[in-house]
Amino acid sequence: MTLAEIASTLLPGQKILQLNSWEFDPNQTHVTVNATSIQNPVRCPVCLTTSHRVHSQYQRTLSDLAWANFQVTLHLSVRKFFCINPQCQRRIFAERIIDIAAAWARKTQRLTQQLTAIGLALAGNAGVRLTQYLSVQASRNTLLNLVRRISLAPIPTPEILGVDDFAFRKRHTYGTILVDLNKSQPIAILKDREAETLTEWLKAHPGVKMVSRDRSKTYEKGILQGAPDAIQVADRFHILQNLGESLAQVFGSQLKILKCCRKTAHRVSS
Ligand SMILES: [Zn+2]
Repeated sequence: MTLAEIASTLLPGQKILQLNSWEFDPNQTHVTVNATSIQNPVRCPVCLTTSHRVHSQYQRTLSDLAWANFQVTLHLSVRKFFCINPQCQRRIFAERIIDIAAAWARKTQRLTQQLTAIGLALAGNAGVRLTQYLSVQASRNTLLNLVRRISLAPIPTPEILGVDDFAFRKRHTYGTILVDLNKSQPIAILKDREAETLTEWLKAHPGVKMVSRDRSKTYEKGILQGAPDAIQVADRFHILQNLGESLAQVFGSQLKILKCCRKTAHRVSS
């Protein structure tokens, strides 16, 4: 295998790219690869009609996975085409190289996947430290944004739902957490703890049959408006918490009597 063949093999999307040249910069531990898209046919992204009528060429610059400890930059020559479908609203379109990189992306798909995996495993700062060992450049925000962009699988609406508030920032900002109580799994976080916000969520997710909540009137109202047929129950934690607070209040207001009882009990026992 020649060096050119090895370099071609290392490219993403080998079948649709033609390797033109590459430059090694040992001082900067950097490789620049020049390649041209040769995919054929090319489809209009709007009407999906194939077209061979080239309008122009332009260059995309993409960061790719490192080769050993060399950072890699791809300079890809890609084309714009005329759409030949007279009914189509798009007259000129840029060819998509979906397997290599998303439209407008500055990184290859496989580099994005690697950074997303790092972000998921280590999050921001620790992830950045690891990427430095992998000869890939990524900021903390890049890793976090990639994790945020992951599309989540749809979550079925639970029949038994737990509702409680929690602090984004204690004594300042609070939200609401919703939990599937059959699976003991959090399923959604609401931006605040207002009745209307909970109502909106329940209306958008019909099918809740029972809601376990604290004893506040706000959530009671939100549930009544959003899922009027659902049975509302107070959860064990808040019942015990309320009981404890009530008992402390009762006994706290009867301190004199409690002292007398204690003295009497002491005399009887001695
Ligand atoms: Zn078209």
